[in-house]
Amino acid sequence: MSLVEVTDLHRVFRMRHSISDVIAVNKVSFSIESGEAVGLVGESGSGKSTIARILLGLEHADSGSAVIDGDDRLTPAHGRTKRMRRARTVQMVFQDPNGTLDRHLSVDETLRRALKAHHMMPSSRETESRVAELLDRVRLTKQQGKSKPHELSGGQRQRIAIARALALEPKLVVLDEAVSALDVSVQAQILELLAEIQRDSDVSYLFVSHDLAVIQQLCQRSLVLFRGSLVEQGNTTQVLSHPQHPYTKLLVASTPGPGWKPDKVVQSRKEFNELMAFS
Ligand code: ADP
Ligand code: MG
Repeated sequence: MSLVEVTDLHRVFRMRHSISDVIAVNKVSFSIESGEAVGLVGESGSGKSTIARILLGLEHADSGSAVIDGDDRLTPAHGRTKRMRRARTVQMVFQDPNGTLDRHLSVDETLRRALKAHHMMPSSRETESRVAELLDRVRLTKQQGKSKPHELSGGQRQRIAIARALALEPKLVVLDEAVSALDVSVQAQILELLAEIQRDSDVSYLFVSHDLAVIQQLCQRSLVLFRGSLVEQGNTTQVLSHPQHPYTKLLVASTPGPGWKPDKVVQSRKEFNELMAFS
């Protein structure tokens, strides 16, 4: 069985002051294997974050199922033990670490508290050595460990968020636009770090991004979401070299890289607009 099995996931937002409802996620099915990095790509508003939030239990689904590590995430978790286990299995990294990091806590303390809350370490001594190990894992120095988030750069703050996610030894890390706010060079460093962590462990990623160029650097497999529906999925290289759906074609044509040609963008946009005119 796959680590993640999502089947016919469906979520509609009912608009109080509008006649039409928004089908944010439309009967979406996919799976993620243990140790696999899967990219979820699509334009803004295509439903990426809604899927991510449902997997995390931050949002409910109207129908479908989402089983992670044998646990059906769409049924409520009863009891503290089960809730804690769920929280450990899937961890999330958001675009803006400022929203989730306590600005009064040093990096060390943030990690220490995460470990303690989940009783991950039997003694203080072991907690301290695990904190040191986590800092090292995300390439932050001892000195940076003593800093508060605002004393660090955006890239370093995202490293704290990654370290905190890893502290609980999750099976799946969901990263929602986790590098989108960073400069290209910092992006590359974080992506390299994530790839390294993946190589050294059996953690899986669901890496959400609107940017195909970023997904390409990290993910073995990609899912293409368009207006709530999965229109294409497969090996990332395959999706990039032989996109099938007009939206994926446009996405690929618009992503600069080797062989990028402006006239290809014009042609793809034309095909895409034709499709849209009939839908
Ligand atoms: P993405 O992450 O791909 O940009 P989202 O999942 O955030 O897309 O949003 C998908 C669609 O669902 C959008 O049309 C968005 O406006 C709508 N949506 C998301 N969350 C809510 C909500 N809480 N209430 C109403 N509509 C929402
Ligand atoms: Mg989003």
